Amino acid sequence: MFESSYPFAFFDYFRIPYTVRPGLAIGDGPRAPVSVHQIRTMGGPGAVSRSLLWQGTADPSALPASRQLGRYRLRDFTFFGHVAVGAAVPGTLSRFSHGWHPAEQILDSAGHVRAAVWQDGDGNIFLPFDPGEVMQQFWSERYRLVERSPMAVRGRAALVRGYYLARPALPRPLQLRLRRAFTRAQGRTSFPSWPVEDSLHNLYAWLFGLVAQLAGRPVPFVDLWPEGRSWALVLTHDVETDVGFRSLDLLRGPERQLGYRSSWNFVPLRYKVADDVVRKLQEEGCEVGVHGLRHDGHDLGSKRLVAKRLPAMREYADRWQAVGFRSPSTQRQWELMPTLGFEYDSSYSDTDPYEPQPGGCCSYLPYFNASMVELPITLPQDHTLFAILQNPDADVWIRKAQFLREHHGMVLALTHPDYAADPRMAEGYWSLLECFRSDPTVWHALPREVATWWRQRAGSVVRGAGDNWRIEGPASPSGRIRFADADSSRAREG
Ligand SMILES: [Zn+2]
Repeated sequence: MFESSYPFAFFDYFRIPYTVRPGLAIGDGPRAPVSVHQIRTMGGPGAVSRSLLWQGTADPSALPASRQLGRYRLRDFTFFGHVAVGAAVPGTLSRFSHGWHPAEQILDSAGHVRAAVWQDGDGNIFLPFDPGEVMQQFWSERYRLVERSPMAVRGRAALVRGYYLARPALPRPLQLRLRRAFTRAQGRTSFPSWPVEDSLHNLYAWLFGLVAQLAGRPVPFVDLWPEGRSWALVLTHDVETDVGFRSLDLLRGPERQLGYRSSWNFVPLRYKVADDVVRKLQEEGCEVGVHGLRHDGHDLGSKRLVAKRLPAMREYADRWQAVGFRSPSTQRQWELMPTLGFEYDSSYSDTDPYEPQPGGCCSYLPYFNASMVELPITLPQDHTLFAILQNPDADVWIRKAQFLREHHGMVLALTHPDYAADPRMAEGYWSLLECFRSDPTVWHALPREVATWWRQRAGSVVRGAGDNWRIEGPASPSGRIRFADADSSRAREG
């Protein structure tokens, strides 16, 4: 359906069929590095072929100064990455075709127009950024370094200092002006928003619409969930202390009653993890995972500490047949996580400003970190909701879960038996479980099952043509094909 000069991360992620043909590359000349990549639609004989061009960033150090790393806004999403800024069409494009004009504005974080998505007279489109780089910025949370560029941090600190120091002496209109500037500065730093940050998924929806429009027909991809289910609900628990270990039934009891399975992450050397408790959970169909080694703030403190503690963690992983990892206090380092040797990690949140290491990958779908599957935590943690924010009930949980259900996402809950003695928390958990118990659209899955499915999906391709598409690969028995339309970001069933 498409051919591309270069691997396109968005197509790879959603398993949209395409072929890589390096010959399609558009360079700045025979000796210059490839600066613009091209995806071309392949129609039948006589069909018009249209292209999506995008700015390559494989080697950011080789990018010209007009490609600026920053925080930008396009339509309904914020994104971070290198953008070809400026009001003039990039020179490479004029060698490709003519009639380029700005089709959509890209703003910087102050709201000024800095760049554009370009379109030519034949309907070809140029993205002045690399969607693959943008996805990686979110997934790895590397965008937080963009946000916290030394200049921005210094600027904001000076603004706050100036405002509070100077306030009593300033005339009222100036005070108000400074106050508004300060609020704007605060607003700018409030990314990701909470409890829902849908920038990354709005970007996906926009790209789906764009490629379907180029193709002039619905674009097939491998459905996000198996067996025709439209979303996933995953229950996980971290057991912090001996008190929690002796209170598993506060959470496991309601699950048993309502027919749920769940995953339990234990800390091997902080309290005694009795083998018979592990065995009983597994006999009930539950999963057991590793929650650091000592939970003392140092398990993932440095590469040296990881090297020292990892063999013991691996030993317990083998003993418990654990394939999943949850970092204590969700402490995480992108490059480190795959080296822990687990099939999946679940230490990133889609958005969580309340954790000791705040942030958010902005994804409510699984994704890969090297060869490891990352399963983001997508509901606020029990401690945040009931202890910090003093919520009286599970309303935020249920509304967020319903939002994710509508958006075909993964609801991954993290609760702790250690806090379940709080009746608001216990009742809240019950209402969450009860709400989706008999939903026919949901996939009730253990995290290890989601990780396996995500691997199968990533190892499968859609093949065929016209109205005749099929999945080839390990996802073919349980996977379904869906289609994205140009005029709607909502994909329809295939
Ligand atoms: Zn913990």
